[in-house]
Amino acid sequence: MKNRLIVQKFGGTSVGSVDRIRAVAEQVIKTKEQGNQVVVVVSAMSGETNRLQGLAYEVDSVPSSRELDVILSAGEQVTIALLAMTLDKLGYKATSLTGWQAGIVTDDTHNQATIQSVDNEKFDQLLNDDQIVIVAGFQGVNQAGAITTLGRGGSDTSAVTLAGLLGANECQIFTDVDGVYSCDPRVVESALKLEHVDFDDMQTMAKYGAKVLHEPCVEFAAKHNLNIRVLSSFSPKQGTLVTRLQSKKNVCGLALQRDLSRLIVNLDKAGQIAMQCQLLGIAVHSQKAEYLIVNNSDVSKLLQISSEDVSIVEPISALTIVGAELEEVHLDVLPQLLAKDIKVLDSFRCDRVVKLLLLPEHLNRAANFIHAQYIEQSHSVAKDKKALIL
Ligand code: ADP
Ligand code: ASP
Ligand code: MG
Repeated sequence: MKNRLIVQKFGGTSVGSVDRIRAVAEQVIKTKEQGNQVVVVVSAMSGETNRLQGLAYEVDSVPSSRELDVILSAGEQVTIALLAMTLDKLGYKATSLTGWQAGIVTDDTHNQATIQSVDNEKFDQLLNDDQIVIVAGFQGVNQAGAITTLGRGGSDTSAVTLAGLLGANECQIFTDVDGVYSCDPRVVESALKLEHVDFDDMQTMAKYGAKVLHEPCVEFAAKHNLNIRVLSSFSPKQGTLVTRLQSKKNVCGLALQRDLSRLIVNLDKAGQIAMQCQLLGIAVHSQKAEYLIVNNSDVSKLLQISSEDVSIVEPISALTIVGAELEEVHLDVLPQLLAKDIKVLDSFRCDRVVKLLLLPEHLNRAANFIHAQYIEQSHSVAKDKKALIL
């Protein structure tokens, strides 16, 4: 009988030190000893990708997207080697593979690439030789052989895509919280752990800022009907299963975005600038006739092309309520926030979301208030457990 294949992914905090890598190795060994074949995907050690990005931006405020991929992909290469060495020391056969070595071929979109294929034969050979295969997350190569990365947080997508392309029986995402919550538990202490979450809700939560999973990985999982289990790498708890659900909650959760800038532009110029953004690969989060909202990291690039049309650049945050039938919630929430002295700069409702634009200093207070009002009150779940956060 063929062994079960499990793909396990460990994020930055989970591999943040040599001691933590040892704990990851023990977790991997446990899975292997249960008779499974194991492919492990790892991120860079925590803080490392930010450090590398900082170096690149010190040299150039708009670095070449090709060279940015070369530098950003370096962090994962360190982790795969450290984990392979640790497993070797513990008496297990392990081989580390960079994206290129694993035959992970992507499209040409530097900094935001999509995986197209993987070298299945290479994996089969190593797994049949009883090896634990350790793959660098977040990276691949395009057809021309240039290194590409999948966007910040992209190791989740490496893991889920590999699980799909290799026909794995299970994909487990180990992280620094013990599952998906109704809001970031670092912001809302009383956030509720979701035992199950629907693909669509999870994808929307991820799209609007719940960084516990990278949005493209949920999109891939939904398309291929591949369940994802989100677990803590530091506790044996059940975690959350991301899957297809028949019945969905009215208000599923809140997602928060902090690293945004609002650019006030000359009237009616926003549409034109948004088109230029599309050509440059800059994501526009919201747009009205007189403003655009983009990630902070894209502001320099945007100003290079259209600074004469931009009058003000200001930090802004977004809080998105994810759920169904949110019309009433939308009407109700605005005066309620006003009564709490929380200024809503703008708000929108579309496809299962209500999005509120807020001053950054109001974001946490608004999240706690909205969570208490619209999520805790409508759930009968006992609030007995606090989130496990590392
Ligand atoms: P990793 O390094 O393991 O990939 P990330 O930092 O990318 O971990 O994602 C985990 C973090 O996501 C958590 O520490 C938590 O602060 C944040 N987070 C945001 N929204 C949620 C949510 N709804 N449920 C759980 N965690 C969330
Ligand atoms: N190391 C990359 C990042 O920090 C990818 C990841 O951690 O998923 O964005
Ligand atoms: Mg992540």
